[in-house]
Parts: sequence; C-alpha cells; structure tokens
Amino acid sequence: MKILKKCLTRGEEFIASKMSSKYCCRECERDASRKREAKRKKVSGKVKKKRLFISVH
Ligand SMILES: [Zn+2]
Repeated sequence: MKILKKCLTRGEEFIASKMSSKYCCRECERDASRKREAKRKKVSGKVKKKRLFISVH
C-alpha cells in the first residue's frame, strides 16, 4: 500500500508505507521531535514562572 503524504518537517511529498508516518525520513522525524522537546521546555519554563508569580501574590 502506497500513500502520498506531506512531510511535516519540510513539507515535501513522499510515499509512505504506513498511514501513521508523518515524515519522509528519520532525519525529519528526529528534527521534529527535537523541536517538540524545545517547545515543551519553553512551556514548562513559562508554567514555572507563572507559579512563582502566583506565589508572590
Ligand atoms: Zn522530510
């Protein structure tokens, strides 16, 4: 089964062998997970700041 999909990292089209695949290659997958982790770290940092702010109040 071949499915034409768009890579979520670079936006290029590729033929996926699985419905669940979102990236054309492992490199793109790694890049995406790295970005996701960076975002998560930023979000958790914001949450910590908010908590601090609340405790000050
Ligand atoms: Zn890609």
